[in-house]
This record gives sequence, structure tokens and C-alpha cells, in this order.
Amino acid sequence: MNKTNYRLLFLSTPVGALGSGIGGGVELTLQNAAKALIAKGHEVEIVAPEGSATNVTKLTQIAGNMQTSAQTQVGADLVVLPQNSVLENMWSYARESQNQFDLLFNFAYDWLPLYLTPFFNRPIAHWISMSSLSPVMDAMVSKTSHLFPNAIAVNTRACADTFSDGDRLMIMGKGLDVSQYNFVKQPEKPSLAWVGRISPEKGLEDAAKAAQSTGLPLHVFGLIQDRAYWEQIKTFFSKAEIHYEGFLSTDELQKKLGQCSALLMTPRWVEAFGNAAIEAFACGVPVISYNSGGLKEIVRHGKTGFLVEMGSVSGLIEAISQLDQIDRFTCRQQLEAEYSLEVWGDRLEKWFDNLITNYSKPRF
Ligand code: UDP
Repeated sequence: MNKTNYRLLFLSTPVGALGSGIGGGVELTLQNAAKALIAKGHEVEIVAPEGSATNVTKLTQIAGNMQTSAQTQVGADLVVLPQNSVLENMWSYARESQNQFDLLFNFAYDWLPLYLTPFFNRPIAHWISMSSLSPVMDAMVSKTSHLFPNAIAVNTRACADTFSDGDRLMIMGKGLDVSQYNFVKQPEKPSLAWVGRISPEKGLEDAAKAAQSTGLPLHVFGLIQDRAYWEQIKTFFSKAEIHYEGFLSTDELQKKLGQCSALLMTPRWVEAFGNAAIEAFACGVPVISYNSGGLKEIVRHGKTGFLVEMGSVSGLIEAISQLDQIDRFTCRQQLEAEYSLEVWGDRLEKWFDNLITNYSKPRF
């Protein structure tokens, strides 16, 4: 049994307010990590950009200009920080308040918090939520992992393998609050779902094409991050029955997602995990996804969905025709067995125990 209750400071993504959807899956991940650790008796304070909202725990909002998303910095060999940067301001707050905490938990996919790690007098755990996208970030992940072994975690093996020093990263998986999702045994009528930020790396066009070919309605849930891309899809696949549902709260999302026959996940990048996949499982919805990145570690081909070759729309269509082979309850069972908050909370707690107990500032 855990005897030590830790005081933990979580630092959210600096690309957007918590709850806005701009941060993608990391917003849910941070809040679920907080829930998992609070359930184990730890105290959590969240620091996030101004305009954030959460009902999970104490929130401190920090003003400043948002950081540009790392997806727009692919291949970058320089670091970009705006004037009066919210990232800088969040880390100034962390420096000033660090002595009230046992550990800081960073959720920014950014160079700065990694670089700052040795200058703090508390251990910093880093959650790297995306695959390697740029040499400048990759190099800083490597340097930090040498100075602080075990301080950096990723979701999946596939994500770790994209980094030069991937074997030095912890594979931490994910957890969901199962009680937030209702299992739906059978949807009222056949339809497809697509969930995510509407942005080219997420490959919505392939799902639209599959929907057009099969004649099934496609419900699209998520923030429109690239308006021109979205307009192009609607024009190009004008014969597809696409329903844009908006960016919904978890509760509204699960209600509508549960009524779909399958979730299509068609990313064109190495998806580090894909939260939407486990949210679908929680509702009993099978996942048809490309056989790449974290998704190939999540979806059990023929059991909880289908894995098809990346970019193969004919593969998606064939999988859709085989959906009756999937028992929706098996999806929910996989979620409960592998992605519960309890199991994930144990893993996170062990990670922090190790970082806190063995913490010593590096000698230069
Ligand atoms: N999401 C949401 N409401 C919506 C659509 C999506 O809250 O209407 C959330 C979803 O719960 C998931 C995130 O958006 O946590 C998408 O994360 P994912 O890991 O699938 O992709 P990312 O955006 O991080 O690339």
C-alpha cells in the first residue's frame, strides 16, 4: 500500500487552453492522470494557459501568448518562442512554487521544459505525447534522457521508436475513466465515426472516401484546426453523407460515438497513441485503423477492430463489410483490462516513486 502522498504540479500544454481541444489528446490525458493519482491519495495542482477549465482539481491559469503546435514545426532545427510566452510564464510559476511540490509533471511537447530540467531542485517527469517530429526536439529528448534516466515517458513502443534514444524512454500507456463512457450493445442504425483534430496529419479524407464508397453516414467529431483542409474535404467528397458534430465534451461525445458502428482512424503521421481509439472501445465501438504507430499496439485485428495498410481506402471498405464479426463487448473488455484508470494510476505512481526516491541533481 502506498504510504506517501505526493504533492504534484502538472504543467499543461502551452498550445491552447485546457478544454479547448487545441491540445488534442494530451488534454484528456492530463486530466485522467490527475484523476488517477488523486484517487490514490495524492494532491494535484494543474497549471494551464488562461481560459482553461477543468473540474478535476485546483487549476492555476497563466497569461501569455500560446506556443505554436509542434505539428507545424516538422523538421525544425530551431526553437520558436513568442514574446510574453505562456510556456515561459508557466515555467516561471513552476520555478517560484516548486518547493511546495514533490514532483513536477510536464505535458508540453517542447524544448524549453526539457532544457530546464537540471536547473530545478525538484524532479520533473516529462510526458512526450507525440512522435519525433523535429531534430531540435529529438536532440533535447536524448540529452535529457541521459541526464535524467527514466524521466521521460511516451504512450507506446511505436512512439518511442521514432526517437533517436527511444530505448531510454519509459512506455507508460494510458488510462480512461471507464465510468464516463456508456457501453452500447447495438447502435440504432449503421454509421461511421471519425474523431480528432481536423488537420491534414489526421487523414480525414480517407475516411470521407470510405464513407462515400460505402454510402454510410460519417459523423465527424473534433476541432476544425485547418479550415481550408476541411472545406476541401467537403467539396471533394460532396456525395459522402458527412455530419459535422462539432467539438463535444466527453459526455456528449461518448453518447454519440456509442451509436456508431465503427470508428475510422486514418492518420497520415506516426500516431503516438490515439485516445479516440480507447474512448471508442469504452463505448463498445470497434476501431478500423491503419496498421501503424500506436494504433497497431491498441487494436486487436479481428477482435476489437481491423488494422489495414496505411492509405488503403479499399482496406477500410473491406473492414467495414466485416464489422459483424466483431463482438462490441470485447472492445469494452479490452478497455477495462488494459486501459483502466486504476491500472494506469499504479504505473504512474511507481514511476513517480522511483523519480522522487532516486532524485539527485546532476553534477556538471
Ligand atoms: N475530442 C473531444 N471532443 C470531440 C472530439 C475529440 O473531446 O468532439 C478529444 C478526444 O477525447 C481525444 C482528443 O480529442 O482525447 C483527440 O486525441 P487523439 O489522441 O485521438 O489525437 P490528437 O489530437 O492528440 O492527435
